[in-house]
Amino acid sequence: MTDPAPSRAEIVVDLAAIRHNVRILRDLVQVDDPVQLMVVVKADGYGHGMVEVADAARDAGADWLGVATIDEALALRAAGDRGPLLCWLSAPGDDFSGAVAAGVEVTAYTLEELDEIAAVGGSAHVQIKVDTGLSRGGAPRAEWVSLFAAAAAHEAAGRVRVTGIWSHFVASDEPSHPMNHTQEAAFRDALALAAEAGLDPDVTHLANSAAAILRPSSHFDLVRCGIAAYGLDPAPGETPRLGLRPAMTARARLVTSKPIEAGDGVSYGHTWTAHEDTTVGLVPTGYGDGVPRAAGNTASVWVEDSLRPIRGRVCMDQVVVDLHGELPPPGTEVVLFGPGDLGEPTAQDWAEAVGTISYEIVTRIGGRFVRRFVDREEGTP
Ligand SMILES: *Cc1c(COP(=O)(O)O)cnc(C)c1O
Repeated sequence: MTDPAPSRAEIVVDLAAIRHNVRILRDLVQVDDPVQLMVVVKADGYGHGMVEVADAARDAGADWLGVATIDEALALRAAGDRGPLLCWLSAPGDDFSGAVAAGVEVTAYTLEELDEIAAVGGSAHVQIKVDTGLSRGGAPRAEWVSLFAAAAAHEAAGRVRVTGIWSHFVASDEPSHPMNHTQEAAFRDALALAAEAGLDPDVTHLANSAAAILRPSSHFDLVRCGIAAYGLDPAPGETPRLGLRPAMTARARLVTSKPIEAGDGVSYGHTWTAHEDTTVGLVPTGYGDGVPRAAGNTASVWVEDSLRPIRGRVCMDQVVVDLHGELPPPGTEVVLFGPGDLGEPTAQDWAEAVGTISYEIVTRIGGRFVRRFVDREEGTP
């Protein structure tokens, strides 16, 4: 964290950390079987930068990339990505033809979607998502037989190739949750019905990061890892030490520091009042940049080798932190969160402080933060 920081606030993404994490995940799932690894880069790579993360992931051996929308998939193709790529969330009116022409595999949840994809022609590669209990996207059990039959008919007519069948866990971050077993069993039922219908997909998949790490029985042919590839813990309190390294650091430069006196209130509404003389620093980021407003009086930042609690409310553009009597000069580095090597808070610490998950912290941070990519050798801070 000694790089020059010309920006008032920046997000530094370490692409070496992404590659390191992808290699760990790849090695983890390839222990016994040749399980393929998909790295999920939706939502701008969980806020890390989709295209750059995708490149790093491919370099480190990701077999597949996964995104939510067709637009995200086409942006990867426009950036030059040519490898196996799956998207899984279309909205009514979406145009499947661009995706099919670009060699993107698309997902069907319903008969209507399947027919639309088949109508594109060009032997679209389609994967079928079955709902095994999440009650989100995917075909409900009552429709599996008819959907598989329709898919087999389209395949026999050369209109599509059914390359995958997949589903998604409810609670893979809670390894003892009974739904893990229920869903895995339901998924096996779906695969058996698909085989009866004559489908022979290349890949079947169910596991996200937490299941990839905690539930080998759910690996099937492929695991879809998002959060772990970014170095964050998919199942805090459950995940064994794997040496994953958080790739994102959010930092800013102190605008001013100044003394305040016992009894002075801080920020809107004076939700915090100094009970002794202290000093406070102004950090030029706020909820307009994705710093959670709920971090007021709960999260801390890192300034000059110490944790500095946020005092009072987080504003749209600014945050006030307690400097405990010190007066660091304007321009002093403020780390909101990072890998944690030096003692600075992590995205997981922020998540716990504001009552959310690390996914939301890294995905929402942005706004006026400038993103910068670095490629740090392992072991250097
Ligand atoms: C986002 C997503 C993933 C990745 O989940 P992580 O918990 O981040 O590993 C996998 N599969 C689907 C369908 C997703 O939407």
